[in-house]
Amino acid sequence: MPLTTTTEMFKKAYDGGYAVGAFNVNNMEIVQGITEAAREQHAPLILQVSKGARAYANHTYLVKLVEAAVIECPDIPIALHLDHGPDFETCKSCIDGGFTSVMIDASSKPFAENIAITRKVVEYAHDHGVVVEAELGSLAGVEDEVNVSAEDSSYTRPEEVEEFVQKTGCDSLAIAIGTSHGAYKFTAAQCTRNEQGILVPPPLRFDILEEVSRRLPGFPIVLHGSSSVPQEFVKMINENGGKMPDAVGIPEEQLRKAATLSVCKINIDSDLRLAMTGSIRKYFAEHPDHFDPRQYLTPARANIKAIVTHKLIDVLGCAGKA
Ligand SMILES: [Zn+2]
Repeated sequence: MPLTTTTEMFKKAYDGGYAVGAFNVNNMEIVQGITEAAREQHAPLILQVSKGARAYANHTYLVKLVEAAVIECPDIPIALHLDHGPDFETCKSCIDGGFTSVMIDASSKPFAENIAITRKVVEYAHDHGVVVEAELGSLAGVEDEVNVSAEDSSYTRPEEVEEFVQKTGCDSLAIAIGTSHGAYKFTAAQCTRNEQGILVPPPLRFDILEEVSRRLPGFPIVLHGSSSVPQEFVKMINENGGKMPDAVGIPEEQLRKAATLSVCKINIDSDLRLAMTGSIRKYFAEHPDHFDPRQYLTPARANIKAIVTHKLIDVLGCAGKA
């Protein structure tokens, strides 16, 4: 099947009590690792591209890689989504350039301005058969050029969501309930430590999610910054020359719970970066004389596939739902 929008995916996910995984792509091995996992697990899939990815890999290369994945995976629906579109022009360029979904992130702007920018993107997108994700509230953390300090982050205010969705016409809404971008989601001061000395972050604000869902029945909610920072890969990095002390993510059981509620899309990026980097570091440590990129990118791609398979089955619950 050709690239699809997320409309049908989200409807089924909402009714079925699961979420669709949205994974960021930057090169061929990442696209292959993700899509091989989704094809094997027969899972619907969102491949997303950030402004930084377009600057790194070039829009055309990324679109063509995703089109190749669509040909290789004819039995699963795949959407191509712009992650954190910063302005109308970037969204328009992706809508004109083959994307089936875009995010306009005007969440750092005042409420009325966020509505006006989002509305403009929605009108253009819907005229072209493309769907729009918007955001209310802002997440802490660093993702490409999106950098929000913990002091500037804010939870979504449930009392704003109905007016926002009604006035913008957006198709899904990203909310801030305590997830965060990057591999250092929380400072040690925000966390407690478990018996192994690993940081345990504060729990997600399910009360906000439930109030948002009550006000927007049937409406798909999106969670950004939802990597769990698997300690096996942090350890692999640290044991092979890396230095990532106190990297910490969102516990998977909390994401699993969110997926059974109104959350229909969960964004996972850092975990794939960690899997790739850990694999390559380990390979280099074990084979200091090797220099063929295919040799070290093969285990990197395999570990991306393995972690995505785990997410589809155990966290998102979307395996078998394509
Ligand atoms: Zn994000």
